[in-house]
Amino acid sequence: MSSVKGFHFNTICEISAQADESLLEEALSLCPVFERLMSRFIEGSDVWNLNHAEGLPVQVSEHTLEVLKCADALSSASEGAFNIAIGAASKLWRFTDAEPVIPTSEQLEKAIFELRNFSIRFKDAGVIIPAGATIDLGGVAKGYACDRVADQLRERGVTNGILNFGGNVVTIGTHPEGRPWKVGLQTPNAKRNESTFAAVESVDSAVVTSGIYERCFTRNGTIYHHILDPRTGRPASTDIVSATVLSSDSMLADALATAILVLGSSLGLQLAKDYGVQTALLTTNNQLTYSAAMPLTLTE
Ligand code: ADP
Ligand code: MG
Repeated sequence: MSSVKGFHFNTICEISAQADESLLEEALSLCPVFERLMSRFIEGSDVWNLNHAEGLPVQVSEHTLEVLKCADALSSASEGAFNIAIGAASKLWRFTDAEPVIPTSEQLEKAIFELRNFSIRFKDAGVIIPAGATIDLGGVAKGYACDRVADQLRERGVTNGILNFGGNVVTIGTHPEGRPWKVGLQTPNAKRNESTFAAVESVDSAVVTSGIYERCFTRNGTIYHHILDPRTGRPASTDIVSATVLSSDSMLADALATAILVLGSSLGLQLAKDYGVQTALLTTNNQLTYSAAMPLTLTE
């Protein structure tokens, strides 16, 4: 097995597979390509262009288009719990900065207004969003990238591999020993990769987890995390601590995991069912709820 890793999408992206390291490096080099298309921070990216278009149509790459269409469909299906116009709020909190900020109620009111009035149109002339809207694809782009990187490896003949882009896992084939890959589900607040409470079996599919213990900060005893409720502009506060989605499509799994965290367990389980994917939800009272068909085993 060879392994390579790099820092992309604000997280560690790692590939391990039975292949030459150079092949893995080549596949990993797709990450900055997608980042340059979909980061809202990189001047000239598709997302940056949309956010600065003042309501005019923007021609975007086929990759960005696919992500925007998936996000738009999920936004409707989740009744707005997933909303890529969340940039209106996330740019205020600045979770990726060394010193995140708690926005004022007035700032959040303005953001909620923008979120409520957001719409996206796909025209021949390009993609149109309202002037002043701020798209943030942080909840879905990494999942798309992970799928495309895995596709490239498959095309190059890789038959056994595992990719982990900061909690967004895609497996290629089986483990070299012929058994399914086992993807550990992290115990909240434990050091990354140090403790897992369950493992999900995966063959050629994606296992994606969103957790409120990721990318968060504490101020005066309150924990603020980066998955925001579009109705309030504040960190989503539901009965879920972490949501894991198993699907053949990693982009969908990524977006769904984020949406389920915003919706809470009962609406979240329904949404997963509607999309025909398996989920495992860890709730605030430390209960684990999962779909009957989820290939999960407890490790504690
Ligand atoms: P992680 O990046 O830890 O894997 P997620 O996939 O859940 O976690 O993505 C969280 C990111 O999604 C946030 O940093 C932000 O960019 C974006 N986001 C936050 N809340 C929402 C929301 N309600 N709808 C869509 N995107 C969101
Ligand atoms: Mg996500």
